[in-house]
Amino acid sequence: AAQTMEQLVSLSKRRGFIFPGSAIYGGLQGTYDYGPLGVELKNNLKLAWWRANVWEREDMEGIDASILMNKLTWRYSGHEETFVDPMVDCKGCKMRWRADQLAGKCPSCGSAELTEPRPFNLMFKTQVGPVPDPESFSYLRPETAQGIFLNFKHVLDSTSRKLPFGIAQMGKSFRNEITPRNFIFRVREFEQMEIEFFVKPGEDEAWHQKWVEDRINWWLSVGLSKDNLVPYHQKANELAHYAKATVDLLYRFPHGLEELEGIANRTDYDLGSHSKDQGSLGLKARVAPNSHSTEKLTYFDAETKQHVVPFVIEPSAGVDRGVLAVLSEAYAEEQVKPAPADRLKPVEEALGTFLKSVSRNEKLTADAKNALLAEGERISGALGERLASITGLLSMPGAESIEVAKKLRGQVDPVVDEFYRTVLHFKPRLAPIKVAVLPLKKNHAGIVDVAKGIRRRLQSSGSMRVVYDDTGAIGKLYRRQDEIGTPFCVTVDFDTLGDGKDASTKDTVTVRHRDSMAQERVAISELEGYLREKMG
Ligand code: ATP
Repeated sequence: AAQTMEQLVSLSKRRGFIFPGSAIYGGLQGTYDYGPLGVELKNNLKLAWWRANVWEREDMEGIDASILMNKLTWRYSGHEETFVDPMVDCKGCKMRWRADQLAGKCPSCGSAELTEPRPFNLMFKTQVGPVPDPESFSYLRPETAQGIFLNFKHVLDSTSRKLPFGIAQMGKSFRNEITPRNFIFRVREFEQMEIEFFVKPGEDEAWHQKWVEDRINWWLSVGLSKDNLVPYHQKANELAHYAKATVDLLYRFPHGLEELEGIANRTDYDLGSHSKDQGSLGLKARVAPNSHSTEKLTYFDAETKQHVVPFVIEPSAGVDRGVLAVLSEAYAEEQVKPAPADRLKPVEEALGTFLKSVSRNEKLTADAKNALLAEGERISGALGERLASITGLLSMPGAESIEVAKKLRGQVDPVVDEFYRTVLHFKPRLAPIKVAVLPLKKNHAGIVDVAKGIRRRLQSSGSMRVVYDDTGAIGKLYRRQDEIGTPFCVTVDFDTLGDGKDASTKDTVTVRHRDSMAQERVAISELEGYLREKMG
């Protein structure tokens, strides 16, 4: 797994997973853009969730509700009043912070002169329609869940579902976070994968437990390890006002153990809050009186001949936090073979010179300098194992402005290429690219023809992304594919054409495995079936 967030930020930018948003205009804090590989990874993660939670279950329907909703939604959901974080101002530098993320002083200027915390609502307000009427506004949804509650009756009536059943949805949510940070962990625009699972009151506790287990197993199935996934049962004083119980699934991110998903027992709060005639419903939750809703969000129980308001179990996960967890778990810097001391020595010296020059540099911001020095120290502490991290160090903010950076890069690149690799051990299902077809010689018409033909045929099978890559020598190409997590490389060589010594290798290719680096000879005619089977 990754040791530092820098390793992930650097690889993401270098290879095209994730870029900082609006970079050419100085950026927009709390926004990131998914690049060519990132969009594939994110889509694969979402598809895996949809498959497991909608297609493979018999008690689930999916929806895709709009981001803009009638503003009354957010009054009766409780968000207008309670979706707030405590905010403080620094009286010195005027920066604003979330009060619960401070240790008594301003992280920017160090001043202890802070205002009292006051509530700050995290919803983005936006005008709806062309008339600047103060009442014509709504919010960008801060969670996808409310779209499910408001459609409860529609789904029930159109599908004739019986309890228990759930509704699943994935989509964008927006929160005006006071201090976005930690890469894509806390951002202002993100995606959620949410389920609202409706059950009979009294069956809620058992279903809550069942969902916690199901969700842990799903995260394990996409590659997270048991050691890094920790369920946390919220204490009574930590629970949201609507929740009877909540279990957070915490993940060991590079910056610490933090929430990846929350699984809450929300009782009949949500359907009750959005219903009319609440007094007639026998609600267990305390809800604000609703004078606008035109529906009772109830379920008719044919056995007892009674209308009930279902209880809700809500597993709510962040897509971007999921991508970050999967990426972090998959990341490894591995020694392919031991580098001899005489090859490490010049790198060690160049690294020392580089760090000295960083600490003397007056143009670097304090943040950039400290980050560079900390990462440099971590690397030099175990240079043999961490050599590959120097590539990341050199792409950190400010690094390229250091005069001797070029020299360090010149020393480290050939050694890394020869003795190390960075690899993403994704589950094949999640890998952005499943197969790379490589020609041993890029100018040999026979080899190129066969290789391009294989790429086309594998791609048209429809189930995997396949690329053709001839941008380097074969060893270099393997490393490049390792670094983006491609589980299989298929190499076409002279043996494939029947030009080798052994005639029996005609019409076969080399399949090279990412994790073991083992190579096998496979007949072209059997290649698709072979790969499909290994893909799982
Ligand atoms: P936190 O305490 O970290 O702010 P939360 O408890 O407010 O999170 P929920 O409202 O439970 O989060 O949202 C459900 C999920 O949505 C979270 O578990 C997380 O994965 C994701 N999520 C919430 N806020 C953000 C954000 N600002 N950036 C990225 N993902 C987020």
